[in-house]
Amino acid sequence: MISIEKLSKEYGIGASRTVVLDNLDFQVATGEIFAVVGPSGAGKSTLAQCVNLLERPTSGSVIVNGENLSQLSEKQLRIARRRIGTIFQSDGLFSRRTAADNVALPLDYLGVTAAEKKKRVGELLDRVGLAEKAGHYPHQLSGGQRQRVGIARALALRPSILLSDEATSGLDPESTTAIVALLKELRDDLDLSILFITHEMDTVLQVADSVAKLDHGHIVESGSLVTLLRDANSALGQALRPRRGVEGAAAADSVWFVGYDAPDVRPDWVTALAAELSVPISVLGASIESVNGATVGHATIGIAGVDPQRVSAALGRLGLSARLDHMAPASATATVTATATATAAAAAAAAATATVTATVTTTLEHVA
Ligand code: ADP
Repeated sequence: MISIEKLSKEYGIGASRTVVLDNLDFQVATGEIFAVVGPSGAGKSTLAQCVNLLERPTSGSVIVNGENLSQLSEKQLRIARRRIGTIFQSDGLFSRRTAADNVALPLDYLGVTAAEKKKRVGELLDRVGLAEKAGHYPHQLSGGQRQRVGIARALALRPSILLSDEATSGLDPESTTAIVALLKELRDDLDLSILFITHEMDTVLQVADSVAKLDHGHIVESGSLVTLLRDANSALGQALRPRRGVEGAAAADSVWFVGYDAPDVRPDWVTALAAELSVPISVLGASIESVNGATVGHATIGIAGVDPQRVSAALGRLGLSARLDHMAPASATATVTATATATAAAAAAAAATATVTATVTTTLEHVA
């Protein structure tokens, strides 16, 4: 496991002082893939460099399996760094070395015998599905294969932490999917803690167990992927799973975004809601899929002529979190943010006057 504690990094002094990372705290458990996302300039590369101590943090700690790496001397650090394998966007392979020789590189520095090295390199290339490419040079491999060689090399010293710094960012979607599958396999088979730094939201959705959003050096939101996707009010959840535009919203006088808030939401909740409210429910948009073994979905529903408090309460009874975005001009107009169980908030908001556009979104989520 890796713990980042109160980690800060500043560059410059006086008027030119820039705080690039500000007091970051997070942990990546053994067997967990923890993604850090953020826009360009958020501090992701700096974080990666501080985690493997290529850059010394200005303050705070990087603790790997209980050992505080930030307090070690350069000599001690060279040894401790073996516990962190790193893969970069650029595979960084030596063009004049074969795949096998590239993987062997970290072992060369350890003075391992030739026989041991051959055995270990063979195991590693096999592990990443490239046993047959051992004698190939980087230019004879695809981008995805080169990245696999990079992963094999990162694993050569049997690290417990794998740091992936935009490792899939230069790859096509198929290669990205294959690398993501490999990382998940390695996480499970080798009990790795994987810190996956990227700007690609789609990849996070495929790979992460947990996610943190970095912005201007701060973690602005974090949590388990499924929890974030489940939360109708999570900005990060919404960024990870953008909601598509909906059709027909103008016909309904209120549009709701709903999320499965309980593990046992009934599959026919739309029918149940319609029966309870005695009105038709328009499903304006929806998507349901499996994420990390949980069923996560989004739906947008339109409801005409029912008091928002009643809708909110009924959704709550069905185990759904809900957000009322808009009501059409014909009825009282309001913008409400509430979980379906928080009827008081919905009631207060319903009394307010606000926007006119009718667009509501519903996120539907349920753990299988
Ligand atoms: P990201 O990887 O998210 O794009 P970076 O970590 O590369 O972000 O950079 C974050 C901020 O830190 C940027 O504003 C960048 O200009 C600044 N920065 C990075 N390295 C240095 C440095 N050596 N000296 C001064 N500022 C730096």
